[in-house]
Amino acid sequence: MSISRRSFLQRSAVAAATVPFLQQLDIDTCEATTDKSIDFSMGFPPDAIRLNRNENPLGPSPTAVEAAIEGVRKSNRYADSILLRPMLAAHHDMDKDWVLVGTGSGELLKLAPLVYLRDGGNVVSTLETFRTTPSFAEKLGADVHWVRLREDGSYDIDRLLKAVDKNTKIFYLVQPNNPTGSVLDYAGLTKIADALPTDVIFLIDEAYIHFLPDGKTGIDLLKAGYTNLLVTRTFSKAYALAGLRVGYGLGHPDIMKKIAAFGCGPTSTNMAGYGAAVASLEDDAHVERSRKYVQKARAFFENQFRQMGLGYISGAPTFILVDIGDKANDVREALVRRKIYVRKGEEWDLPRHLRVSYGLDEEHRAFFAALKELLA
Ligand code: PLP
Repeated sequence: MSISRRSFLQRSAVAAATVPFLQQLDIDTCEATTDKSIDFSMGFPPDAIRLNRNENPLGPSPTAVEAAIEGVRKSNRYADSILLRPMLAAHHDMDKDWVLVGTGSGELLKLAPLVYLRDGGNVVSTLETFRTTPSFAEKLGADVHWVRLREDGSYDIDRLLKAVDKNTKIFYLVQPNNPTGSVLDYAGLTKIADALPTDVIFLIDEAYIHFLPDGKTGIDLLKAGYTNLLVTRTFSKAYALAGLRVGYGLGHPDIMKKIAAFGCGPTSTNMAGYGAAVASLEDDAHVERSRKYVQKARAFFENQFRQMGLGYISGAPTFILVDIGDKANDVREALVRRKIYVRKGEEWDLPRHLRVSYGLDEEHRAFFAALKELLA
């Protein structure tokens, strides 16, 4: 559908406030017109089934949407992400100097290597994991000591620690892991924190932490007094604000200061993201909805894969790996031809697998109908 800007202005919620305001100033609101509707499909076909980016299919909390719209109305002003720090600190019962806000947690995951590997050194990382930090380190010319998961998909703490040497600057762990869902219990986290030399940053990426049943996290390690620790969190997953780009890091103020010298400044947030983040923090019920939805989706996928005789690796987070075998990439291409998007396990050195993010029920049904046909 093509709409003129005039009718768009008249219809949209933001315009409901903007138009009278402009009219009050005696400014004509009808001058600019466009024949184009705005395409928000981000390059995917309009009817695409997008199970490829671990996005939250439920969408943001309704109050977060309202707050984001309010933020858009005020987006002639710069947002100041510094003001989110005390709110996040209060949320975690910490001091604001221990918090830094980024344009998604991705900003912190890139700044950490930039800060700590400029003069050389290496990162220790699991091989089958999310790769922003290790890949960025490689781009900076640093080495990555890749360590495989155990056969059963669990973290091998001893092998990870053996990979640490005198040049190691960052020890990166995703908890729970993307794409395998692997988790370390608090004793495991503590074992690593105790074993690492104090000049090695233990970077714990907790993007999916909300999906774990209650338990101690990297933040408890910070509160227990470990200072060589950086914990990253995001509003992209449980809070479903991926498109608004808000994340944050928690760590000792010395670490925060070093990172803040390179980024995570006042303009790392935008007005819509700012509003939505504040509102999201107050809507625990929506996080609970997401958690329940993911549990239900996981049970459905596991059941379907079992019935199909396919192996899978799953955990608490918002995705599942399915073992398709040698033809995994061909199957993925065939799914893409049907406008069903999933990820190649190859990206994380799991070439037999596809990673499927949980979506909506009808998307799941379409995915399984296509997969069954392709494997028949
Ligand atoms: N960490 C992990 C493990 C992820 O899977 C992702 C995104 O998929 C991110 C971090 C990046 O999140 P953000 O949107 O906060 O940059």
